Amino acid sequence: MPKYSRLTKQKKLILDVLRQTNIHPSADWIFEQARKEIPNLSLSTVYRNLSLLKKAGEIQELNYLETFGRFDGNPKRHYHLLCEKCKGIYDLDFPSQHHLEEEANKCSGMKVTGHCLFFYGLCDKCSE
Ligand SMILES: [Zn+2]
Ligand SMILES: [Zn+2]
Repeated sequence: MPKYSRLTKQKKLILDVLRQTNIHPSADWIFEQARKEIPNLSLSTVYRNLSLLKKAGEIQELNYLETFGRFDGNPKRHYHLLCEKCKGIYDLDFPSQHHLEEEANKCSGMKVTGHCLFFYGLCDKCSE
């Protein structure tokens, strides 16, 4: 039987927790969920594994405004909408604006390699 290291097991669990939600959780939230499976897990282990998963391109960390430190199990490029009231983060089913980079390229003459576009407003619940 192959011997799995603790790190591998923890990393897999953290990835599973993150892939099974779409709330774009913080490391604390992931820690609380993962601890149900591995009670002796530490928060620093969660942070270390999140960093490894991010480097491996398995997950992303959101880094704009109040989304800083929130994680996304979907590594594909997509846009987000932040609710300014409840701080909920929602995926936006919005076509990727690749042409913006070409435009920026043309305008600046620089080699534009990416962009971030970020939306904020009020979710359904908060706008009632
Ligand atoms: Zn809201
Ligand atoms: Zn997302």
